[in-house]
Amino acid sequence: MTDKTVYDLIIAGAGIHGAAIAHQAVSNGLSVLVLEQYDRAARATSGRSSKLIHGGLRYLESFNFKLVRECLLDRQRLLEQYPDLVRMRRFFIPIYKNTNRSRFTINAGLTLYGLLGAGGKYSRHRKIPKKDWDALDGIKQDELLAVYQYWDAQTDDAKLTSRLLQEAQAPNKGPKAEVIFNASVEMCERNGDKLRVKYLQEDVPVVAHGRHFINATGPWVNDTLAKCKPSVEGLPVDLVQGTHLELPGQLKKGIYYFEAPQDKRAVFAMPWYGKILFGTTETVYRGDPAEVKPTMLEESYLLTIFNYYFPDNPVERTDVISSWAGLRVLPSSEASPFKRSRDTIFHKDDDNDPRILSIYGGKLTSHYSTAEKLLKLLR
Ligand SMILES: Cc1cc2nc3c(=O)[nH]c(=O)nc-3n(C[C@H](O)[C@H](O)[C@H](O)COP(=O)(O)OP(=O)(O)OC[C@H]3O[C@@H](n4cnc5c(N)ncnc54)[C@H](O)[C@@H]3O)c2cc1C
Repeated sequence: MTDKTVYDLIIAGAGIHGAAIAHQAVSNGLSVLVLEQYDRAARATSGRSSKLIHGGLRYLESFNFKLVRECLLDRQRLLEQYPDLVRMRRFFIPIYKNTNRSRFTINAGLTLYGLLGAGGKYSRHRKIPKKDWDALDGIKQDELLAVYQYWDAQTDDAKLTSRLLQEAQAPNKGPKAEVIFNASVEMCERNGDKLRVKYLQEDVPVVAHGRHFINATGPWVNDTLAKCKPSVEGLPVDLVQGTHLELPGQLKKGIYYFEAPQDKRAVFAMPWYGKILFGTTETVYRGDPAEVKPTMLEESYLLTIFNYYFPDNPVERTDVISSWAGLRVLPSSEASPFKRSRDTIFHKDDDNDPRILSIYGGKLTSHYSTAEKLLKLLR
């Protein structure tokens, strides 16, 4: 490509959103350039999620039926499209004497969840008979009142993101997306319907020209907007970190959905490449997104919950195989991060003729719908 190339879309960020938008844009015949500051896709949030492709059972509590329904439809699409990367798993919800949500609430929630998932065998949930409880990977039996099992899906988030990007680079027909790693966007200047995007590639400044600039830089969204001219005001957000621990041991039956005894948050224990993935947390983060890492407090919080629910196989800090933190982009608010909206927000530089579009928040699960809506907005 020469300097004269004018891309339909210049996308900053090769996380799930950047990859999904590139994927759909090329299949609509658009020319696309993706610029990623790191050396590969999904090195930030999209490789540090809980790896669940789900409707989000807990969003039913905030009556966000639309979000749940949309995510369940996206789940179905992903199961059909990427059966090697997205798989249905059994999810178990144990209810103890001190669990906040009652058996009635869980049962009603799972019934509604099944209905929103539009039927089929994966819409049904069941109560596990007491005689089978001791086969449940050693979960605490003391004060256990009931265990419900339902279905949801799990993926490898980094592989899914990379797959979308690879497909965008080698589509069956139409133009190929150009993807440049180690390319950090430094400036985006709009002049009418034309955009000049300056990026540093291995410290060398390069300029690309485009018709639209998509800011899919996740937790860097406002930093990237601050590099746009004329200046565009971003939305007030909090970055909320979520930590996962990789622990020794195996979960043979499926994924466990626990309620943290300390604060009643949802915490998952998941099988992960022959180990256990345990998370997550919600800690407001104020530093550089590139520097986010698990805190000691988060590790102790998660280990306390793990040892509470798996009393026969306690783990200590020295047993932790690895740990990492990712950042959620949530609307600024006094409310606890757990209660804040998880809706995806599109921000436009100009309501009538948007050329610089930024994505705030979102879910791994709903990347297809998000990309679809964004492209519709451009049309
Ligand atoms: C702890 C945690 C658990 C989660 N669990 C789930 C889950 O189980 N299921 C689910 O559906 N969703 C989950 N989510 C949400 C989901 O992971 C995110 O919404 C999604 O990954 C965000 O993707 P993104 O592409 O917007 O951002 P990112 O993945 O962060 O990608 C942004 C990219 O932009 C790049 N970038 C930044 N600045 C620049 C620049 N100037 N120039 C070039 N590139 C730049 C970054 O390097 C990065 O690669 C979770 C989120 C967190 C934090």
